[in-house]
Amino acid sequence: MTPLAGVLGYPVAHSRSPAMHNAAFAAVALDWRYVKLPVPPSLFVETVRALPGSGYRGANVTIPHKLSALEVADSATAAARGVGAANTLTFAAEGAIEADNTDAGGFLDALGESPRGRRALVLGAGGAGRAVAWALREEGAGEVLIWNRTPERAEDLARELDLDAVVAPRGADIVVNATSVGLDAVEPAEAVCALGLEPLDAPAVVVDLVYAERATPVVAWAERVGARVVDGLEVLVRQGVRSFERWTGQAPPLDVMRAAAREG
Ligand code: NAP
Repeated sequence: MTPLAGVLGYPVAHSRSPAMHNAAFAAVALDWRYVKLPVPPSLFVETVRALPGSGYRGANVTIPHKLSALEVADSATAAARGVGAANTLTFAAEGAIEADNTDAGGFLDALGESPRGRRALVLGAGGAGRAVAWALREEGAGEVLIWNRTPERAEDLARELDLDAVVAPRGADIVVNATSVGLDAVEPAEAVCALGLEPLDAPAVVVDLVYAERATPVVAWAERVGARVVDGLEVLVRQGVRSFERWTGQAPPLDVMRAAAREG
């Protein structure tokens, strides 16, 4: 039977992961297939439990299942436990399920420089903000500030990770957009205003987790102020690279995966 992998989400129609992973399997001559698995929350647990017996070796997990993915697993990596959510499941031959979080390490790989000793501002306290804030803390960032539209969520996350919440964005060396602002077509000025970016001094580097067909408003702002830019597709590719390696044990073809993800 052809080994399978897939992405569990709801919705999942626009995922670029199948293109990225199928290109990678072909590049390393692995006879694997990666498919979209649109699964509503009510069917998530029973679907995951059925996957290992149906030829699946692994799965990525996206909105809204990342918390349930950690709960359904038999074991979890330090990253999945630390973040409190999983985006990668690996199935052992006997059916055991291991949870990992490659969003955190993938973000650090995409960042491409050590955050050690530097001040970081994380915009957003949802699932992505949680993974990014945890990763920055683990890598020794000097200060990690969390801002969120709903301030209580920033305060809760900061308390849990022993970081600081801010009621208004402040200047930082590294600014990460982990909100969904920019996902829908929105005027750049409106997005920059919603995130309180305009008054900030130019950061050294800006990471926008959001990706879209057009340049996102946060990327446009970062380019305008002269920051180095890491876009959401690079973060997607880097988390995918880590998942691929975990499932197959093979060195991931990074350039092939990047090209496939960018082609959509
Ligand atoms: P989530 O858990 O639903 O959180 C959404 C976040 O966006 C919350 O912090 C929310 O603030 C904020 N937000 C939504 N609309 C806003 C607005 N108009 N103004 C200010 N803040 C707003 O989603 P998530 O899983 O964290 O994902 C966030 C984004 O990251 C999504 O666009 C997702 O596609 C992207 N992402 C990308 C990658 C990648 O590999 N590139 C990986 C993971 C996620 P409130 O708490 O106030 O609602």
